[in-house]
Amino acid sequence: MTKKSKLLYEGKAKKLYATDEKNILWVEYLNQTTALNGLRKDLIQGKGELNNQITSLVFEYLRQRGIKHHFVEKISKTEQLIQKLKIIPLEIVLRNVAAGSLSKRLNVEKGTQLSFPIVEFYLKKDLLKDPFINDEHVLMLKIANLEEINLLKKKIRKINEVLIEMFQKAKIKLIDFKLEFGKLPDGPIVLADEISPDTCRLWDEITNEHLDKDVYRYNLGNLVPVYQEVLKRLLTI
Ligand code: UDP
Repeated sequence: MTKKSKLLYEGKAKKLYATDEKNILWVEYLNQTTALNGLRKDLIQGKGELNNQITSLVFEYLRQRGIKHHFVEKISKTEQLIQKLKIIPLEIVLRNVAAGSLSKRLNVEKGTQLSFPIVEFYLKKDLLKDPFINDEHVLMLKIANLEEINLLKKKIRKINEVLIEMFQKAKIKLIDFKLEFGKLPDGPIVLADEISPDTCRLWDEITNEHLDKDVYRYNLGNLVPVYQEVLKRLLTI
């Protein structure tokens, strides 16, 4: 049994611990919920558990489809083991349908189907409030080289195809989502972080009802029953 050791990092929604195994980390999902780059903060009982369960399920599905990632196994309701990697400091967003900041910035009506999946890069830097950047900024900042940028885009597009298919089975439309990637100690770039209603926009296939963190962002009601609904549907696929 892997043993938890010292706390390495406490983020907005997760705590990260070292373990007695060199290349394995221990993640605890928290109930803390934030929006507006951490300006708004609340404790929502049960959220950590739901996100851990949903992320674990999604990562298992991706593994079956040949997508390499950092997830090892879920070890309790709120905890999981992951492979240690060096996070690439980019939040990579893929959009299938206009919503959120894209709608606002480019005045594209929320709900408009995009003619092709759009990939966007944001610099992971809280102090700068995660600014939107382009490929050349990524090169300039030496975050990734051209080959790696193209690989990241190829990976997120492939993951999009698998996630669309998975959520479709749960009668959910995948509007957009954010991914993070990292480099394993021996070099390869793999998917990291989490995939949950905190990091995806998920709309009910029929009613377009929000089944994601927008419920919290836009004060649309209690987030827990909404995340429970996502989990319930994913458990049936
Ligand atoms: N997203 C995220 N973390 C962030 C910002 C965005 O997981 O710090 C996700 C968000 O849930 C959505 C997608 O990325 O699924 C695109 O978000 P957008 O740029 O529209 O920003 P928002 O409207 O969430 O501020």
